[in-house]
Amino acid sequence: MLCLEVRPYRRPFCQPLRTAHGAWTAREGLILRFQDEQGHVTFGEIAPIPWFGTETLVQAQAFCDRWPRQFSPEQVSEIPDSLPACQFGFSAVHLLAEALTSAIGPHPKSVSQPWNRGSATLPAPGANFGPADICALLPTGAMALTHWPTLWQAGHRTFKWKIGVAAVAEELAIFEALVAALPVGAQLRLDANGGLTPKVAASWLTACDRAPITIEFLEQPLAPAAILAWLPQIRGRFDTAIALDESVATFAQLKRVYQQVGQQVVYVVKPAITGCPQRLLQFCQRQHLDVVLSSALETPVGRNAAFDSACELWAAGIPKRALGFGIGHWFQDDWEDLSEADVWAQL
Ligand SMILES: [Mg+2]
Repeated sequence: MLCLEVRPYRRPFCQPLRTAHGAWTAREGLILRFQDEQGHVTFGEIAPIPWFGTETLVQAQAFCDRWPRQFSPEQVSEIPDSLPACQFGFSAVHLLAEALTSAIGPHPKSVSQPWNRGSATLPAPGANFGPADICALLPTGAMALTHWPTLWQAGHRTFKWKIGVAAVAEELAIFEALVAALPVGAQLRLDANGGLTPKVAASWLTACDRAPITIEFLEQPLAPAAILAWLPQIRGRFDTAIALDESVATFAQLKRVYQQVGQQVVYVVKPAITGCPQRLLQFCQRQHLDVVLSSALETPVGRNAAFDSACELWAAGIPKRALGFGIGHWFQDDWEDLSEADVWAQL
């Protein structure tokens, strides 16, 4: 049997994020603490984004309230697909199941003192990534030109720059200057968040093809409703890859889009809102998906679980692409470097 405790968190952003559903001022979610009878502890995170198709925080909280405080790990597989953020959060129990069958063995102090005494937090396997593994987000507009050297010096090699924010000619001019300045070995991702027209997207792809450094991909140039019809029209016309992000926010969307466009695109997936990570990993491995794992603005708890998935994907031979997780500076707090146990202690 496992024991569950739940604590809510609220992390204000430095500046409200603009979304299609208005200003987003604070990231809210739930941290789950699981402990087995041997005293092993692990943490999970529920970080819903309802406008991306997940349950709401209220629904997630209600689900946790109904969940038995002592339960068997097998019950986790019964969480319905309508609660993808809960599926992700509860999937952390697999670490406890693995601990029982691995060399970690029972915690010596805890055998006779189950639950809260003598606990040993399990290491998160994905907690040791460096800047080279993480894509750093550049500021929009001309600020990118002055900001990249700091990120380069910190060890980042992959950068993301948002486009479709200002006039096309202005952004293309900044782009030319940026790709001329970035060192060989740098990779740049452009993210349009669905905001371009087909004609403007073609201009960007032409510019990307001519750039002196690698443009890894152009992410979500058109809105989800328009992009699937457009992809066949540009097939073979450009060298720069297209990535899809908003188009594949849920697992059902990912499967549906894959059936239509297959290997033609790179898939940007947010594990925290895509449901059961084991199912996602299985799908990516079976289809040999070219995939980038990306942040849903979760705490280090959810991030480590996502990094864990990245480790598994790369070990299975999925091409290694920098993770879309350079988001710590968006929050007013300094949780990014906290351990999972320290995050729990903040709540
Ligand atoms: Mg994106």
